[in-house]
Amino acid sequence: MRLCRFDDNRLGVVRGDVLHDVSAVLEALPAWRYPLPDHDPLIAALPDLRPRIEALADAAPALPLAGRRLLPPVASPGKIIAAPVNYRLHHDEALADQGIHHGTNILPIDKAGLFLKANSSLAGASEPVTLRFPEARNDHEIELVAVIGRRADRVSRAAALDHVAGYCIGLDMTVRGTEERSMRKSCDGYSVLGPCMVTADEIPDPSTLEMELRVNGELRQKARTADLLRDVAALIERASSFYTLMPGDLLFTGTPEGVGPVRPGDVMRAAISGIGAMEIIVC
Ligand code: MN
Repeated sequence: MRLCRFDDNRLGVVRGDVLHDVSAVLEALPAWRYPLPDHDPLIAALPDLRPRIEALADAAPALPLAGRRLLPPVASPGKIIAAPVNYRLHHDEALADQGIHHGTNILPIDKAGLFLKANSSLAGASEPVTLRFPEARNDHEIELVAVIGRRADRVSRAAALDHVAGYCIGLDMTVRGTEERSMRKSCDGYSVLGPCMVTADEIPDPSTLEMELRVNGELRQKARTADLLRDVAALIERASSFYTLMPGDLLFTGTPEGVGPVRPGDVMRAAISGIGAMEIIVC
């Protein structure tokens, strides 16, 4: 199943090039009451709600997907986790390019571990990326994103994928510089998530996907998730050894080689097999 959020916080099921409005299912979620939950309530309830969502989709008219305003498929993640240098060739290019490393220490992922991006950086596929510091180098980083489906506290690698609700395409937009990653990658709109969330049953093995990113039609990044140094399961094992993962938490799994700058007016097209594609305007 492909879930999207669109227009004015509507929930949709995408089937081919149409979508079905299933927003009525949101009435089943608990009413908001302080304190707010530390996870995404829809993702947490998805296993229970899924039969009703499918039934609503069957009954709802088909709406054209084209022209919809796409919001982040996960509305309220508790945290956005990201993997640095998780492809060997990206590690090599980061070490070789002063414009990427800025004299900072580029550690391999097993030494660097993971970092966090501010939740306020989350944006959907229809929102332009507004460069926060246009005078600096702002890079695109296409990444497979795993959406955590259920609470994961110190889970083993073998059990890790049972804790995934689904997958999205992510853009880990990055200001190059000397600051901490958590600052440079947390500008408003610098965590793009879309176009929809494909539930994990449709992607039983996330290490078999192909991805590419083009800027104004020119191929910049092309890779396979088989080349991840630490795959999705290993990243969940590592992250959950430090902190509990909650439903709706996002795990950006790292970008392959080919990162490069974008400028106002550019159009990025990001695609991952089994998920789809999205076009993002830079301004
Ligand atoms: Mn990244």
